[in-house]
Amino acid sequence: MTRPGFKRILLKLSGEVLMGDQGFGIQPETVARMAQEVKAAKDAGFEICLVIGGGNIFRGMAGAAKGMDRAQADYMGMLATIMNALAMQNALEQIGVDTRVQSAIQMDQVCEPVIRRRAERHIEKGRVVIFAAGVGSPYFTTDSGAALRAAEMKCDALFKGTSVDGVYDADPKLVPTATRYESLSFDTVLSDNLKVMDASAVALCRDNNIPIVVFSIREDGNLARVLAGEGTATIVTNKN
Ligand code: UDP
Repeated sequence: MTRPGFKRILLKLSGEVLMGDQGFGIQPETVARMAQEVKAAKDAGFEICLVIGGGNIFRGMAGAAKGMDRAQADYMGMLATIMNALAMQNALEQIGVDTRVQSAIQMDQVCEPVIRRRAERHIEKGRVVIFAAGVGSPYFTTDSGAALRAAEMKCDALFKGTSVDGVYDADPKLVPTATRYESLSFDTVLSDNLKVMDASAVALCRDNNIPIVVFSIREDGNLARVLAGEGTATIVTNKN
């Protein structure tokens, strides 16, 4: 399947990609490398909305598993995503990419609140908009935040940068014979419970016809390659 051309994309990076080999937190060299990936995509003419997770710092489910109130733990997770967004903003601005952070949890001293029309203006001016704090409510994840922002910002596709180069029929780290899908339908992802994104995020993309492109962010220059229709990735669309 040839990949369609896109102009405006939403890039979702999980918090884990910022921690590098540290196992926790934010590794500045890794954040700088991610910023280079975003810059290369920007230089290639793409409009970029960015959503970063918080799993490198705190996940609500992990807190709840240790006895915390789930909603309270989820709010902590959302705050973690704001820290990651600020780290990425810093790294991007250090290499000359203009950015704005908009958070779904208002934090006036450090970033803007989410205002769609303002975000639109930032994009028109060539800035990268980093959306933090997911959807701003507990019991959600940043995958759902990414799908929501992709829909409201009318992005042509949602690019999910992970540590594997697409969607496989089994976990390629555990099953050596696992095979990668070139393309998939949203319905197959949901019915076969394939680990692409949360079901609510996948359903939102399906209902709004936003393709999801799953690719590896670990190889240098891969985002630009995948955006150019090269490199390995799996594309999830409404086509069967
Ligand atoms: N979170 C939330 N609502 C949202 C987005 C995030 O409650 O809309 C919390 C949730 O606890 C989640 C944590 O923030 O575990 C970090 O986000 P996520 O797990 O999506 O990060 P990722 O796995 O992408 O690093």
